[in-house]
Amino acid sequence: QVRVRFAPSPTGPLHIGGVRTALFNYLFAKKHGGVFYLRIEDTDQNRYVEGAEEYIIEALNWCGIPFDEGIGKEGKFGPYRQSERKSMYKEYALTLIETGWAYYAFDTAEALDELRKEEEAQGKTFIYNHTNREKLDTSLVISAEEAAKRIADGQEYVIRFKTPVNETLHLKDIIRGEVKFETNLLDDKVLFKSDGMPTYHLANIVDDHLMETSHVIRGEEWLPSMPLHALLYRAFGWDAPEFAHLPLILKPIGNGKLSKRDGDKLGFPVFPLEWKNPDGTISSGYREKGYLPEAVINFLALLGWNPGTDQELFTLDELVQLFDLERVHKAGAKFDPEKNKWFNHQYFGKQDNEVLAKELSHVVMEKGYNKSHEFLTEVVKLVKERATFASELWDLSDFFFTAPTSYDEKAAKNWKPETSELMDNLITVLENTLDFSSHNVETVVKAWMEENGIGMGKVMQPLRLSLVGSLKGPHIFDIIALIGKEETISRIQKAKA
Ligand code: GLU
Repeated sequence: QVRVRFAPSPTGPLHIGGVRTALFNYLFAKKHGGVFYLRIEDTDQNRYVEGAEEYIIEALNWCGIPFDEGIGKEGKFGPYRQSERKSMYKEYALTLIETGWAYYAFDTAEALDELRKEEEAQGKTFIYNHTNREKLDTSLVISAEEAAKRIADGQEYVIRFKTPVNETLHLKDIIRGEVKFETNLLDDKVLFKSDGMPTYHLANIVDDHLMETSHVIRGEEWLPSMPLHALLYRAFGWDAPEFAHLPLILKPIGNGKLSKRDGDKLGFPVFPLEWKNPDGTISSGYREKGYLPEAVINFLALLGWNPGTDQELFTLDELVQLFDLERVHKAGAKFDPEKNKWFNHQYFGKQDNEVLAKELSHVVMEKGYNKSHEFLTEVVKLVKERATFASELWDLSDFFFTAPTSYDEKAAKNWKPETSELMDNLITVLENTLDFSSHNVETVVKAWMEENGIGMGKVMQPLRLSLVGSLKGPHIFDIIALIGKEETISRIQKAKA
């Protein structure tokens, strides 16, 4: 069975890259009828941030990619918070000591600093591994009794992985194909600390194994950890899951990874939800900025993946059907905030009119107008295609509520004395029209123009200018029908004056 996980560390709000990782895991799980679970990797208590876990869960829910198992949805593999699994990691670390895959290290920070300086003075880069094992204070050097005594005496220690020497690892990554690593270049990573906490590497491998993870799908920044992880599976004698490292998300301009600062600088969100920073500033969120989760998901799905066609708009179900790890690119994906908005625009107009009418009603009331829900629903129907965000609805529709107070200068210049005369005649035509539906007014007005040999532009432009104040807006007869006869005529009269 496919079982994949999203395993964030609660060190802050979920960056858009994290949401993309969660999304690809979600799509892969659903495509294969598998399970998508959430594991909170909170073993590093120094980096723990209050509220981050709640944020992650709320963000996944808002995006519409909820997890099947995790906090609050305990399955048989729980608990899903590593801090609550604390007691089970030690035995795994000890097993590795017994089998010779790990060792105790007692080096103090000062001693390591000293050694680092010494090696740097010789032009070497310090790596804690086989190159200097004899100089280090570890159970590889001292006797087992001595090590046991120090631990009993309460001396601080860590357990480090004993990386094998002189080996080339040929590992398989679903996206990258074969990836090679030289074990001699790896350092002996800390797996366990004397405060009783495992490090990320140990906890991550133990849990991926115990939780029966079939595929590890995560960001490219974890690729350097892959050799250690593969070796840990070997050391434990466990089958390793398959690995897929997703491409980086790059800045819109320039090179490098997209960061929070890029968003702040260019004024677009890189977080799903708003987040209050420790310094009191707010990092903006998609939700609060008026983005729709469908649009965010669609946009993110195409950051590093495409189905091989020109299609750009996908529902979540379609993404599930089409998604394939083999089609994920290796190269970084540029984050394009304009494209992000374009997606929102596409989805904005698809929203339910009733829902949008409610959103518009807040502004309408604020501006001091009192209009029925039906009226607002009609307005929204006519303007929503032009909007990208709900916040734009008012500017696109203000003329439905109030007569223009100014007129587009360029268009007003075309208003000739004969225009006023035409408008007078039009008023008479409108006054005599009983059925004021959009369709009927259109038929009547067009018939009148035809009968009298009046060109379209001669009437339509000044009419629009009178009603809207500019030459923009939806179908003019829809506007007329909605604001009604009296208002239409009064606006034409006002414009004439
Ligand atoms: N806790 C790691 C993170 O914050 C998980 C990396 C992984 O998926 O192995 O992203």
